[in-house]
Amino acid sequence: MKLLEGKIAIITGASRGIGRGVARIFAEQGADVAFTYSSSAQAAEELEKELSALGVRAKGYQSNAADFDQAQQLVDQVLVDFGNIDVLINNAGITKDNLLMRLSESDFDSVIEINLKSVFNMTKAVQRTMLKNRKGSIINMSSVVGVKGNAGQTNYAASKAGVIGFSKSVALELGSRNIRCNVIAPGFIETEMTAKLGEEVVKVWRDAIPLKRGGTPEDVANACVFLASELSSYITGQVINVDGGMLT
Ligand code: NAP
Repeated sequence: MKLLEGKIAIITGASRGIGRGVARIFAEQGADVAFTYSSSAQAAEELEKELSALGVRAKGYQSNAADFDQAQQLVDQVLVDFGNIDVLINNAGITKDNLLMRLSESDFDSVIEINLKSVFNMTKAVQRTMLKNRKGSIINMSSVVGVKGNAGQTNYAASKAGVIGFSKSVALELGSRNIRCNVIAPGFIETEMTAKLGEEVVKVWRDAIPLKRGGTPEDVANACVFLASELSSYITGQVINVDGGMLT
């Protein structure tokens, strides 16, 4: 049996990396998928075709998750196109790493806006629909860096720690309406975001992981399937590290 049959999911930032992996595994599990991207229009078109070929409804939308009004317009359009929303995955995110000494105000602000304010924007936008349905699952992508911190990533760590605090508060606020909100904290997942790092750096990362490998987008996607499905119906306000044991 498919675990997400009949569910409609919005996934932000699915043109590549983890989001793309989540979109594919969700479609394989029977979910209809509305996904967003920032500028990768061609990749989005290809993904739309790939997902549709799996027999589900799928549509890509160019939408800046950091923009409050665009998030609302996106959700309104998804409701017109798909009719409902059961699952929201706030996955869109960026890095702009630098030592605090060199970190500019604009690089601090843009990381907070795209990684953290986007979660507020999208959660606000789906809230009314989920309240009406008296159910919903919201899954927010944090990072082990939001749990532990990381030198050279003060902006990113602050945004990802903020996602955890926001999510726990949403879980407390909306639990009585059967709306669950959980966080996934991926460790070192090999995507374009991490491909910016040199081979030597990547080797050091891999060696430090108990399972001795970087994660794949599918590793993260499988945790998302669990949190989106009825298998996790009594789980809310939690942070699941998908990190090969990195923080252990
Ligand atoms: P990625 O490969 O760089 O992909 C980022 C995705 O987000 C792309 O689809 C991009 O769209 C989209 N995006 C960027 N800015 C956006 C915006 N303002 N509005 C809407 N979409 C936007 O990243 P990733 O490695 O898959 O990471 C996905 C999430 O997991 C992020 O939140 C990241 O912080 C988190 N994470 C990743 C790792 C890791 O090791 N990779 C570890 C921990 C946490 P375009 O293609 O159009 O630019």
